[in-house]
Amino acid sequence: MKVLRVALDIPLTTLFDYALPDGLWAHAGDRVAVPFGARERVGVVLEVEAESQIEPERVKPITRVLDDAPRLPADWLELVRFLAGYYQRPLGETVLSSLPPRLRSLRPLPREAERFYRAGVNAPSPDTLKAARKRALLETLGEGCLAEGALLAPFAGQVEATRSALRSMLRAGWIEAARAPSGARFVAQHAASREQAAAIERVARAPGSFQPFLLHGVTGSGKTEVYLHLIARVLERGAQALVMVPEISLTPQLEARFRYAFPDTRLAVLHSALDDGTRTSAWLAAARGEAGIVLGTRLAVLTPLPRLALVVVDEEHDSSFKQQEGLRYSGRDAAVYRAKLAGCPAVLGTATPALETWYNCQAGRYTLLELPQRAAPGSVLPAVRLVDLGRESAEHGLAPSLVAAIEARLARGEQSLVFINRRGYAPVLGCEACGWAAGCTRCSAHMVLHAADRRLRCHHCGAESAIPRACPTCGNVDLKAIGRGTQRIEETLAARFAHARIVRIDRDSVRRRGELTRTLEGIRRGEADILVGTQLLAKGHDFPALTLVGVLNADSALFSTDYRAAERLYATLAQVAGRAGRRERPGEVLVQTRFPGHPLYAALARHDYAGFAASQLAERKAAGFPPYVFEAALRAEAKQLARTLEFLRAAAALVAPPAEVRVYDPVPAVVTRRADFERAQLVVQSPSRAALQEFLRAWSERLFAQAPRDVRWHLDVDPIEFD
Ligand code: ADP
Ligand code: ZN
Ligand code: ZN
Repeated sequence: MKVLRVALDIPLTTLFDYALPDGLWAHAGDRVAVPFGARERVGVVLEVEAESQIEPERVKPITRVLDDAPRLPADWLELVRFLAGYYQRPLGETVLSSLPPRLRSLRPLPREAERFYRAGVNAPSPDTLKAARKRALLETLGEGCLAEGALLAPFAGQVEATRSALRSMLRAGWIEAARAPSGARFVAQHAASREQAAAIERVARAPGSFQPFLLHGVTGSGKTEVYLHLIARVLERGAQALVMVPEISLTPQLEARFRYAFPDTRLAVLHSALDDGTRTSAWLAAARGEAGIVLGTRLAVLTPLPRLALVVVDEEHDSSFKQQEGLRYSGRDAAVYRAKLAGCPAVLGTATPALETWYNCQAGRYTLLELPQRAAPGSVLPAVRLVDLGRESAEHGLAPSLVAAIEARLARGEQSLVFINRRGYAPVLGCEACGWAAGCTRCSAHMVLHAADRRLRCHHCGAESAIPRACPTCGNVDLKAIGRGTQRIEETLAARFAHARIVRIDRDSVRRRGELTRTLEGIRRGEADILVGTQLLAKGHDFPALTLVGVLNADSALFSTDYRAAERLYATLAQVAGRAGRRERPGEVLVQTRFPGHPLYAALARHDYAGFAASQLAERKAAGFPPYVFEAALRAEAKQLARTLEFLRAAAALVAPPAEVRVYDPVPAVVTRRADFERAQLVVQSPSRAALQEFLRAWSERLFAQAPRDVRWHLDVDPIEFD
């Protein structure tokens, strides 16, 4: 009798043995229903053996094989095994958590193929429609043909009402059912430039073999256009492409561009904000080989793709590729590994590579492809100027020259963007009489003042409270907002430019996806004069009329204790600067600073990423930081800091590290208390990845074996965020 070794979602490192009853067939990669304790669970068969190590009478039979989804392919199983091993997570839990929720449940999968829709011949023009929902549906469809899931995705939270609107529009012939698109037709927007063509040829020269590339191109240099041309060749061969982006629900323009370029291709969009049904059907379309393109966030790397022939990671430097809970994997690194398993090229694209990636190029592991110029005719990189706050004094946070520059844009009918990476009104509410400042009762952090709805909010734990009428320690009623966030800058700009149309974009102003899509469209159509926003506005957007970017409060990151702060700051500033002057009219970037001579700003003004990277790498090398060493962090939290530190010290003593591995002393986190837990971590370093991995394996085994109940802990391999 055959024995199946089954992965179950249980935090143990072992697999579980089950018997395969006569008359059933099962292979590695099959999903199966098995009895476990009192209930039935979904498991994944990882191995099939002739006999078990356990006594035969204790091996229970599986209940059935769940064959309504394709068998998980061998390269998928290998990827997931690798991730579990590398990031020190239990294998069963990793396998199951790599599947969409529906595939982890015993409920049968939806049988019917997904329905597709397009606008019908009777459809009125959306502008003439009063009914907002119907108008939005027609606008979402546009000229295209969309799967039901993709059509309903912008209406999360009101899906039922939207479905009923859809039904009535179908009856009226405004919308009609269509067949699933699946062709390879490519609508190129531009003929490739000489540089783009060189990059495309270089990647396409080696189909069918693994090779990692870094596509280093300044903002607007046509990297996306390169991806599209590469994907077109992949689709021509009947193969599949995986495209990963940091954020998809906030960049509807990108999705639209893919749909426009490949009107007949089934595009599977995957991210964590999708409803269950949409995500399941996108996953199935990819796994069945029906979707030619999978476009998604980091979790898209976990999609089975039977005919994978190209992996693209856009904005590869972006820290959101790293998962910050459970399996703490790097989506980018996993993507490169995935390409290796599939034997295909991996293209990592960015204007500001992660230093690790840049270093991999210099070491000859990755092939460097450069796009040094902007692609659109007449478009050049913006001029970056530093506004010395030592010489001109800012009024309400805005330097006179920035105000004048905005004024000039208003007069010319061009748009300006004021970037400040802090949402809310002011980061601190305090009393000047006694020095009191509003703090979070659960965290070692200040409460952020949100003036729009008159609340104090903790950005670490989400706690909220009303604004006190008077200082709780001295009774002073004149409490002051200290520092600035987006809301306060918006208020200042509104007072200064009374007739300008000002739009604020941050996580508070855009709660829903559809709302942001409409706001961004409005901006593109020129329905705003001044944009105020955070990071949300920095990434990937293309605003044709935007010619000025003003940067406030960037200095604080210059002197951070986190050695990655400079790298992140440079990337953010280059990104946000890249929003300016993307068409014929040249752009200008004004950075307000007290340190106009700082080398980071000088490199930014020269658009000299290579120079910046060289100086950062020299510093990292001298200080012994990644990419010259490999790191892992053991993080812990408990009710008392003493307990947290005690746990970490005991953990450090569990396994004696080999000579090549260094275990540092535990240190409290910067925000030590968060949501009533006291946090600390210890870092482990080694110049050898293999030695570090070997140590981590032994160490995590001991940690899992003797984990105390009163301390929460996790290991983070290749950590990037230490807050
Ligand atoms: P990136 O991804 O590097 O930011 P995009 O691919 O979005 O760059 O291109 C930036 C702009 O240049 C877009 O408006 C795009 O339509 C245009 N563009 C890209 N390639 C070309 C080309 N070969 N000729 C003309 N315009 C181009
Ligand atoms: Zn006071
Ligand atoms: Zn808090």
